[in-house]
Amino acid sequence: MRPPEDCRRCALCAGRTNVVMPDGDPSSPIAFVGEAPGAKEDAAGRPFVGSSGKVLNQLLEEGGLPRERVFITNTVKCRPPNNRAPTQAEMDACLPCLESELEGRKVIVTLGRSAARDLLKRDIVMKDEVNRPTKVTIRGKEIVLIPAYHPAASFYNRTVKDSLRETIRVARTYLEG
Ligand code: SF4
Repeated sequence: MRPPEDCRRCALCAGRTNVVMPDGDPSSPIAFVGEAPGAKEDAAGRPFVGSSGKVLNQLLEEGGLPRERVFITNTVKCRPPNNRAPTQAEMDACLPCLESELEGRKVIVTLGRSAARDLLKRDIVMKDEVNRPTKVTIRGKEIVLIPAYHPAASFYNRTVKDSLRETIRVARTYLEG
C-alpha cells in the first residue's frame, strides 16, 4: 500500500513538498527503516539522499549490501517541521503503509530510536539494544528486527559508524542463514 500523493491522514501533510516513497529493491529480503524525511529528501521525494544517506550508502557498499539491493523507507513519509521527530500519532497514521512495505521481508533494520519504537511498540534504550536482533510480528508473521543507530548519529559520535558496520554484518548472517 502506497500513500496517495495527496495523503492527508496526519498533520505532516501541511508542510511537505513531496510524499517520500521508498527506494532500493522493492523485493529485497532486507528493509532499512529510518525516522522521517529531511529537507533534501522532501525536495527529492526519495529517502536518505542527504548527508545521512551518504553515510548509509557508503556503509552498505562496504558491507556488501549495496543500496540498490536493499529496501529503504521511513516511519513517516512526510517531513516533520524543523526536522523534529515524528509524534506517535503521526507514526500511527503512517503505520499501515509501513507495515505493507515490510510484510514478507526476512530482516528489518531500524535506524534510530523512533523507528525501533514504532515497530517494537515500546521505548528502547539504544545503547542496550543496538545490534541485538529481536523479532517483530508484521501482519501475523514474525520478522527479525535489528535495532541500529541512525547514520546521522555518526556526525557527532565516531563510534557509530563501527556500530553500523556491525549492524550490516549481523544482518547478513540472518539473510544468508
Ligand atoms: S506522514 Fe504518512 S500518514 Fe502522514 S500525511 Fe504523510 S503519507 Fe500521510
